[in-house]
Amino acid sequence: MSKRISILGSTGSIGRQSLDVIAACGMEAAALTANSNAARMEEQVRQFKPELAVMMDERAAADLRIRLADTPVRVASGMEGLLEAAELPSADTVLTAVVGMIGLRPTMAAIREGKRIALANKETLVCAGQLVMEEARDFGAEILPVDSEHSALFQSLQGCRDRGEVRRLILTCSGGPFFGKTRTELQGVTRKDALQHPNWSMGAKITIDSATLMNKGLEFIEAMHLYQVPPEKISIVIHRESIIHSLVEYCDNGMIAQLGAPDMRLPIQYALTWPRRTVGPADPLDLCSCGPLTFAQPDLDTFRCLDLALKAARTGGTAGAILNGANEAAVALFLEDRIGFLEIADRVALALDRVPVIQEPSMTQILEADQAAREAVLSA
Ligand code: NAD
Ligand code: MG
Repeated sequence: MSKRISILGSTGSIGRQSLDVIAACGMEAAALTANSNAARMEEQVRQFKPELAVMMDERAAADLRIRLADTPVRVASGMEGLLEAAELPSADTVLTAVVGMIGLRPTMAAIREGKRIALANKETLVCAGQLVMEEARDFGAEILPVDSEHSALFQSLQGCRDRGEVRRLILTCSGGPFFGKTRTELQGVTRKDALQHPNWSMGAKITIDSATLMNKGLEFIEAMHLYQVPPEKISIVIHRESIIHSLVEYCDNGMIAQLGAPDMRLPIQYALTWPRRTVGPADPLDLCSCGPLTFAQPDLDTFRCLDLALKAARTGGTAGAILNGANEAAVALFLEDRIGFLEIADRVALALDRVPVIQEPSMTQILEADQAAREAVLSA
């Protein structure tokens, strides 16, 4: 069970909910990090009293130093600061809630210190899952999922004595705000439409990924790495209500699922308290009012991003890094109103076409693939 936690990305959606959990469960914050919101960081530092606060942005760090001048809290900045937060000796756990592949280096650093990793930052596993998992094995670092689907799988695997008995992992998918729409209907979709998720309130990037269904594709690759299963042993089912968070099908046709209200504080908490459970702040689920539970096949023709991700999952090697880098760049363009909604998939497809895939890549080759994919998207 975790006691002192460094939260990378504490001002974001997952970061703030993690602080709720920490406060409710009597845990402590060792370090907090954020990109540029010094005002919110100041509030968090005054409440949680970590020993280190890090702003990625240098100017925000200078601002934070002035704001915290009356406190003993050390302020650091940039990637150096992020790495320091990841390696802080007094922390037993590092919760990775930064968005994007920027989380890769600090996650590796925390693994090398043998910390428990409560992993929300899925982009890290999509880019470099094999290297991250190998490093975790070598350094004896536990990687516990925060993503609700992966936590549901983890919870549904708790009674499993032999992984050979698992037939299939089934990821549930809400379908996002555009479930049931055709490609023609999606042509004029705006940033504002895409930022409305029916069941979850999340950061902008993952909300767009949930609208394109790229999020489920990233989660598919994340599951392959976390549970060391080949792509043919994972399937995806649309479940609009987000009550069943995922399921494991066993060889005797039994299925074990985890249910709960759509509240990220439960999977966050489980990653911190495992192997125990404790009373916490997550909402309870009322079975009689959560409505009928429905299931459907995903539409891979309309939601091309999911199809591209599944192909990248089967290709392996640097395909995940190319997919992810291209998607990060394309979503940023969409959020700046520079490309349309359907063009996100077009740009990702183009990057996957242009950048050659390398199998069994080194970290340098992964970073190069990521960079080449971003360049392909920007130069289209
Ligand atoms: P968010 O945008 O709300 O927060 C991101 C955090 O990272 C913020 O604290 C921000 O300051 C920091 N950050 C952003 N860019 C940075 C940079 N370049 N360098 C350093 N720090 C930076 O995002 P979120 O919704 O909390 O998602 C965080 C991660 O968790 C993502 O990888 C996402 O896929 C994953 N996740 C989120 C949810 C959810 O419900 N929000 C669910 C499952 C997984
Ligand atoms: Mg998820």
